[in-house]
Amino acid sequence: MSADRDAALRGLPSVDHLLRALAGRPELQGVPRARLTALVRETLDAERRRAREGHAAPAAADALAVRVVERARRTGLFSLRPVINATGVVLHTNLGRALVSPLAIERLQAVAAAYSNLELDLATKERGSRYSHVEALLGRLTGAEDALVVNNNAAAVLLALETLAHGREVVVSRGELIEIGGEFRIPDIMVRSGAVLREIGTTNRTHLRDYADAIGPSTALLLKVHTSNYRVVGFTAEVSSRELVELGRERGIPVMEDLGSGSLVDLRPWGFPYEPTVPEAVAAGLDLVSFSGDKLLGGPQAGIVVGRHAVVGRLKKNPWNRALRIDKFTIAALEATLYAYESGAALETIPTLRLLTEPLAAVRGRAKGLLRRLTPACRERLGARVVDDRAQVGGGALPTVELPTAGLVVGRDAQAAMRLDARLREGDPPVIGRIVDDQLLLDCRTVLASQIGGLAKALEALQ
Ligand SMILES: *Cc1c(COP(=O)(O)O)cnc(C)c1O
Repeated sequence: MSADRDAALRGLPSVDHLLRALAGRPELQGVPRARLTALVRETLDAERRRAREGHAAPAAADALAVRVVERARRTGLFSLRPVINATGVVLHTNLGRALVSPLAIERLQAVAAAYSNLELDLATKERGSRYSHVEALLGRLTGAEDALVVNNNAAAVLLALETLAHGREVVVSRGELIEIGGEFRIPDIMVRSGAVLREIGTTNRTHLRDYADAIGPSTALLLKVHTSNYRVVGFTAEVSSRELVELGRERGIPVMEDLGSGSLVDLRPWGFPYEPTVPEAVAAGLDLVSFSGDKLLGGPQAGIVVGRHAVVGRLKKNPWNRALRIDKFTIAALEATLYAYESGAALETIPTLRLLTEPLAAVRGRAKGLLRRLTPACRERLGARVVDDRAQVGGGALPTVELPTAGLVVGRDAQAAMRLDARLREGDPPVIGRIVDDQLLLDCRTVLASQIGGLAKALEALQ
């Protein structure tokens, strides 16, 4: 490095100097001192790198102060914050999966702001069970004798395997050895639970006799796993829950199904393919049925297990259950979500169900509304127009469904689309779109009506 450049870098203002220059800026209100110092350091480091690599003189203090303010704006005060989901994917795992209903939010707030009867039996003043708040509801909604709720469905499967099959064999079809992302793979979870996987059948075909032949003295469980994020099509055969239950009964072995999404309603009237509902799985006689709280159910993150009293009871007594237990916020939101199903208001009030069943015309209407809010100059600049498209349900649910949808495309070429995508992600709130055919599609199925104005503003502000 030349002496010249060293001298130039010495011209970079100090951390203290920049902090003083930034004192009292209204845009930095609420930014704690330690964080501001970190932002100043990052800005100075970036500038030092830039000046070195570009053999250029560093920027002046004023310009650097502006960059710190911009960096603070981009980071926001909080790391976890709302975004506008313009991907069209209703259950987007990276974007927080299911939105919860207004009633769930109300119940969350009520329980968060005051003490609650979480584990107090109000009638006897004795210690109660936190699960009591949802057990009866789950029983009535699914027809099951008993219920248990843990942190998520992965935990539910782990708990069931650990309780029923530690050191023994679990029979699973090779067509159902799923990976659902985020390190959840049936063979791996089996190892962690201490159970031994007994694979049977082939990828495309598994028969009842395969299960029957695999049963031996160390068989602890017959497990069916819903292939929630893929489909085996063509020359296929699988064994129904009902047949498996019959076999399990004959041989005295419990049968479990991991349903994945586990819907409480049949969505066929809205054009979705048939998926077994939780009540149907329970009616088939399964000892245990597990499903997620925040997939098609449309509630908080949770793993719900319903089934026969004797078997669910064993899971409840497992010390692991204490480590996987849900908190009061989950219970409050889950109770409100289940209440909506029981009161018949689920389709109107649960956002996941509303977004999935909203007619294309309404989604298109929102996209057109968005376009109308843009000035002609902005439309022209972005090349904005309304198009129809197809979207995924997401969340490892209904993988073959292509949901008709509509949105706004922007960006005149691939490069422009990438740039707009990056700029919109930096906004407040950040906007997450989807690149389709070298354009940025802002899919309006998942953009809430209340967000259209904000999205229009964000687009208008793009240069
Ligand atoms: C999604 C899914 C899980 C995991 O559920 P989480 O609630 O995300 O932990 C397990 N099994 C199947 C079949 C799934 O689809």
